[in-house]
Amino acid sequence: MSTTSLINLLPAAARMAPKTPQEVASALADARQTGRKVVVFSTGHGIPPIGDTSERILLDMSAFDGVEVDPVTRVARIGGATRWSDLLAAANLHGLTAPCGSASSVGVTGYMMGGGIGFMSRHLGLGSSAIRAAELVTLDGHIRRIDAHSDPDLFWALRGGGGGFGVVTSLELNLTPMPRMAGGVLGWGIEDADRVLKAWSAWTTNLPEDVTSAVRLVQVPEGPALTVVVVTAPREEDDLQAVLAPLTDLQPVLNTVRDTDPEAFMKEYSDPEIDPEEAPHAYEHVLLDQLPAEACQLVAEFAQPEGGCGAMMVELRHLGGALGRPSNLGGAMDRIDGEFSLFVLGPMEAVPAMAHAVDILSDYGRGRTYFNFMPRRTGRRTAYRQETIDRLADLYEAIDPDCVIDHPHPISRTASVADETAQAPAAAPIPG
Ligand SMILES: Cc1cc2nc3c(=O)[nH]c(=O)nc-3n(C[C@H](O)[C@H](O)[C@H](O)COP(=O)(O)OP(=O)(O)OC[C@H]3O[C@@H](n4cnc5c(N)ncnc54)[C@H](O)[C@@H]3O)c2cc1C
Repeated sequence: MSTTSLINLLPAAARMAPKTPQEVASALADARQTGRKVVVFSTGHGIPPIGDTSERILLDMSAFDGVEVDPVTRVARIGGATRWSDLLAAANLHGLTAPCGSASSVGVTGYMMGGGIGFMSRHLGLGSSAIRAAELVTLDGHIRRIDAHSDPDLFWALRGGGGGFGVVTSLELNLTPMPRMAGGVLGWGIEDADRVLKAWSAWTTNLPEDVTSAVRLVQVPEGPALTVVVVTAPREEDDLQAVLAPLTDLQPVLNTVRDTDPEAFMKEYSDPEIDPEEAPHAYEHVLLDQLPAEACQLVAEFAQPEGGCGAMMVELRHLGGALGRPSNLGGAMDRIDGEFSLFVLGPMEAVPAMAHAVDILSDYGRGRTYFNFMPRRTGRRTAYRQETIDRLADLYEAIDPDCVIDHPHPISRTASVADETAQAPAAAPIPG
């Protein structure tokens, strides 16, 4: 079942599926007149934090799904609901790519509104920094082309500010040449999690910044529990294998690292499509600054099938590189304030144990979070600096003072961290 059907399963006060920017403008006018809030969806992947949609107008943007690539200027023009699979395929035809996440079915716009970290992020940086312009329908019904010159504040907010500033009908993106790329996975049993994590953590310390990797401790349904390192670099296979020596010395039972390209890599290693008929999952997340041996041991213990926290996947992404420096192309999110992202996914009944595990591990960071992985509606204080929150809040007040456009994480200038942790977790459609 597609994620469009997932949207169709949601309760709603009304549903609209515009086909043109003008129809988007009239849908927003309807919302203003009826006093109902609008939830904008491209794929429906961002549903969890929004929760109950029964009183909302659902604005299904899935008709805006085109991709045009200009190989000379290296610019892609995409519809507001285009998915990563379509953009990567079209760019790849010209040896170009864009900073994608880990799932082919995720929408480019939703991903970039929240920053965007993925398979090649240490090399390519945040997804949002690739935006060069947007066509935006604002709540007042205007269809506007926003870029750095036309409207610097809105353009800044669109690049990682969390969405809700209007409805994006198209984006123009800078593409990056990718003449060579190697990538794949190294795999061990779950019993090796501790030693692999310790070796991986040490290996990341002086790693060239074009190498991006993550460790995933996964429990495949009806399969063995595994320790997996997913890795990419814009290099030849032999070159990447040489960099991987400290990990391959640990004798993985699986090594699929080889020459590839971004489209092929995504096809092979993407997170699976969501099946809305499956029991809902939940996730927890925090950013970490360091991963000493004792933290690796804790992560490994939490991921064990017996006596762990009940998660289906415990994932650590290595950040830093281009993600760690403020980008001069960056907007409201211009870097990620942490060295590792911890993401834990599991069934709803495992939430207390997963939250406890993340809480313990948060001692290895400063309680910072990354917007796209925040499980609950919060005031965003753990995801942005205070000056960013204030600037975003000023913009929301100017553009949409009644919060007609609902989005995953409404902003609060004053919400405390305690307010955030007190909220119940939302059901998550993110599979491992
Ligand atoms: C399987 C899976 C894997 C993921 N992996 C990653 C990852 O590797 N890295 C990462 O950073 N994130 C990842 N995410 C999180 C994902 O980036 C966010 O949930 C993102 O918001 C999804 O965007 P969407 O358009 O697919 O979802 P939607 O539910 O369609 O949209 C989410 C929100 O984005 C905004 N939005 C979407 N389209 C528009 C539009 N056209 N106009 C205006 N606003 C719009 C709206 O506020 C909407 O509520 C993953 C999510 C899933 C489900």
